Parts: sequence; structure tokens; C-alpha cells
Amino acid sequence: SIPLGYFGGIGAASRNGILFKSSNFLDLIANVTTVVMDKTGTLTKGVFKVQKVVTNDISESEFLSILSSVESHSTHPIAKAISQFHPSDQTPKSIEEISGKGIKAVINQKQILAGNTQLLKSFDINYPSELDQIVETTVVLAIDNHYKGYVVISDEVKEDSELAIKNLKNAGVKTMMLSGDKDALTQNIAKKLGIDSAFGGLLPEGKVEKLQNLKNNPKEIVAFVGDGINDAPVLALSDVGIAMGGLGSDVAIETADVIIQTDQPSKISTAIKIGKATKKIVY
Ligand code: ADP
Ligand code: MG
Repeated sequence: SIPLGYFGGIGAASRNGILFKSSNFLDLIANVTTVVMDKTGTLTKGVFKVQKVVTNDISESEFLSILSSVESHSTHPIAKAISQFHPSDQTPKSIEEISGKGIKAVINQKQILAGNTQLLKSFDINYPSELDQIVETTVVLAIDNHYKGYVVISDEVKEDSELAIKNLKNAGVKTMMLSGDKDALTQNIAKKLGIDSAFGGLLPEGKVEKLQNLKNNPKEIVAFVGDGINDAPVLALSDVGIAMGGLGSDVAIETADVIIQTDQPSKISTAIKIGKATKKIVY
């Protein structure tokens, strides 16, 4: 039988907007040594806004029309920003998401690529070196293997993120941030928030690798916190998988062990606190 204290813990968590799928995760989270977090949507708002448009050998309206027509088929937070900025008025014949890189599509018999510089590199497309100097998130467009320009988009750090990291530090828990977004941007945010270590420019399998490296140390108990978009493999691999916010995909909610129903990352330390308090009652 399950000791009564666990019900108390699960109840206390649920009153705080934290759903534990089973009582053994209360035990595990109490002993967490490292909390690994996704950047976009977890520590940042996940709401991007277009800041700047730079075109090359194409009119701005045609550039934005093609870019938006491709992005309107993606649910990525980056794509949402672009399709809100400009109407999509062309219909792609085929469309394919390239995980961690962007989108490949065909419009009017032309091959369209929209994504990061890694995407262009993988198709051997040259682009101006100034692009590598931009710290902010960018989406680059290529038509028939020719570079056509880029948009700069920006997201904001959540107000609650600073408290979230501070609380974890006070609880003696190490923090790590992983992102598929630019490394320079990832490092800036990590520094600003006081996160112990951060890695950007990762493909989904790169995130898995970072988590596996941690888990290879038998002393580590690792929690991963993500908003669910592309996060299912790391959620599954972690000792405690935590899905955040109402934005979380169905897959994430299925795969996660704990669900934080608000968009507040400070609930991570709340969950740890409740886990610890529950253990004291149970043992
Ligand atoms: P993260 O959630 O950490 O940002 P993702 O794997 O979702 O990681 O995305 C990694 C990167 O891939 C993005 O920062 C972006 O550069 C590129 N990307 C992914 N999807 C799109 C898209 N629909 N349009 C443009 N770029 C994209
Ligand atoms: Mg993501």
C-alpha cells in the first residue's frame, strides 16, 4: 500500500498546478542533482517577433510572401512569428520539416529552404559571412540553392526565469540549458540567468547526447524540463521528465512524468520542495 504521505504530496503539488503521474516521481524529484532545461518556451516566452528583414536579389514583398507561405505550414514558434508578420499567399506543392534546421518546400517548381545557416550549409549554399555575426535568432531563405536574405526575430526571457534559477541554486541543484537556437544567444541568456552550463545549436539527437552524458554518472539524478516541441526523446530519457505550460504537445504530456500546468519555471523548485517535504513525512 502507498503511505498516506504520498497522497498529501500529490495533493499539495496539484494545488500548486503541478501534476505528478505517480508517487515515485515525488521521491525521485526530491533527490534531483541536475535540472536540464530547454530554452525556447521554457525559460523564454516562446513568442517571437520579426525585428528586421534583409533581402538579396529579390523584392521584400516576394521574399516575405514565399517565406510566410512556407512557414504557415509549421507549428514551430519561429514559424508562427513569420506567418503573423506577413500573409501567406502561395501554396507549396510539397513541404518537409527538417528537424532542428527548418523547412524544405516546393513553390512554383522552385525549391525553397527556410531555416538556420546549418540548413543552408547542408545544401552547400553560400551566404554572407555577416550572418554568422548576428547573435539573435535568424531565419534564412534560399530559392533554388541561391541565398535570398534573412529575417531577424526575437523572443524574450520570462520574468519568472531568474527566480527559477535562483531557487534551484539555493536548493543545491545544478542547472543546464539546451537549445537548437544559436549558441551565442544561448550563452548570453545562460549568463544573464546564472545557469551553470549551456549548449546551443543542438539537433534533437545532440540534446539526447548531452543528457546521456550526464546520466552516465551514476550519482546524477537528472530532470529535463521542456515545452514539448521536439522534446519527447529527452523527456523520455531523463529520470524525471517535466512538461511545461498549456502549450505542451500531446506527445510531451504522454511522455512526461510531471506536468507543470502554468508557464512558470519557478514551479520546478516548488515541485522539488514538495518532494522533499513528502519524503520527510513518509520515512
Ligand atoms: P529549440 O526548441 O531548442 O529552439 P528546435 O529543434 O525546435 O530547437 O529548433 C532548432 C532551430 O532550427 C531553430 O532555432 C531554428 O533555427 C531552426 N528551425 C526549426 N524549425 C524551423 C522553422 N519552422 N522555420 C525556421 N527555422 C526553424
Ligand atoms: Mg523546441
